[in-house]
Amino acid sequence: MVSALADLQSPALAIADSVQIFKITPSASTEVDRLQFRANHNDMQATGFYVAPNSTITLNVKINTGTTVARLAIGTPFRDNIRPVRQYFNLQAGTQTFTADQYGGLVYVIYTANNYSTPGEIEVTFGDGFIPVPYFQKGKTTHAQWLVTLDSLKNSAPDVMFSSDRTIMVANMDEALLYQNEDQQLIVDRLDSIIGFSNYISGLSGTSGVHAIPYNKHLITVRDSSAGGYMAAGISIYFTESLSYRMLQPKYLSNTNGWGIWHEVGHTYQQKAWTWGNLTETTVNVYSLASERGFGIPVSRITANNSWPKLDTYFQKNIADRNFNAGDNDLKMIMFHQLWLAFGDNLYINLSRSTRENRPTVSTDAEKMRYFMLSACQITQKDLSDFFRKWGFKVDESVYTEIANLSLTAPAQDITLLRD
Ligand SMILES: [Zn+2]
Repeated sequence: MVSALADLQSPALAIADSVQIFKITPSASTEVDRLQFRANHNDMQATGFYVAPNSTITLNVKINTGTTVARLAIGTPFRDNIRPVRQYFNLQAGTQTFTADQYGGLVYVIYTANNYSTPGEIEVTFGDGFIPVPYFQKGKTTHAQWLVTLDSLKNSAPDVMFSSDRTIMVANMDEALLYQNEDQQLIVDRLDSIIGFSNYISGLSGTSGVHAIPYNKHLITVRDSSAGGYMAAGISIYFTESLSYRMLQPKYLSNTNGWGIWHEVGHTYQQKAWTWGNLTETTVNVYSLASERGFGIPVSRITANNSWPKLDTYFQKNIADRNFNAGDNDLKMIMFHQLWLAFGDNLYINLSRSTRENRPTVSTDAEKMRYFMLSACQITQKDLSDFFRKWGFKVDESVYTEIANLSLTAPAQDITLLRD
């Protein structure tokens, strides 16, 4: 029996409320269309609860607004890699009972519309079978609460969750305990900073209109190291268990070790119109480099990786023998970085904004290259033909004619000579 005094001195556990309000959000595909991104990302909302395998769960739903059916999803993408698919239940008004499959897992709510105007709000009361996990909520949970919660729930929940303004992060209990003495508030602050740097370089701000920041939170989750891989982006961003030390110690989110998560977040921001065939691992670093600068890293990744000599080697070839698309990822990244060195953040901010506004119908690599080249000239108000020719952009000569027809002046300096 715990003394009354001890009870008074212990902070309340950092767990989810049993009654929660959920509002409708745009579906992943609706966001992708607005933002002109290449790929869907998360549109699930965290609940802070876990359900055990084969358990019976009971919840009550009160519909405050709207007629859209919300769904309960059990299982975190990638986290439960043993699970073939997540388990979904349609929710209706009133009390309802479901049975979890043999996997169980963390519980999410999917409550989406394929537009930005459908209203919807539900109140969910989580009842029997919903097991609270340690749930660190930005600006609410204290470090002392976190320690008490981990100790209290370490044998009942396999995972912990962090919730920030822009992210949901799932980590496993073992590593949460291992790094419990770190500053959790700083972790969630830095996760939001990373999303913020990608929003910034994408020209995204505010909460309405075509340039609003993404409505749904980024989902970042641990995955068994035995599953192979390392860190990747998709419907969620995953990091293998062996990388937990980078996610649960804030210093590794903001120093050069943060590159991995900056890069994976970058993948969720790539626009399809100017990411042609072999640039998936290239344009992504427009965003990673924005995070690197955002955190004040004094030396760019290009210099740190000693990539500049690759440029020197490439430029020793005759122009006719250069083929930008055939270059390796480090080399191709330099082209985008030189444009940044010449024109700064505004080039990518305005390119991203105009891509969302104009929604170009480009699908082939040639169409995307033409779109990027003409857009870069129009945004910078410079004729960049010399730069693109030196970089070995193998496009139809008509593209260079179109650039010439813009009657812009050439840059005062040879941008291919820029270094940092
Ligand atoms: Zn990548």
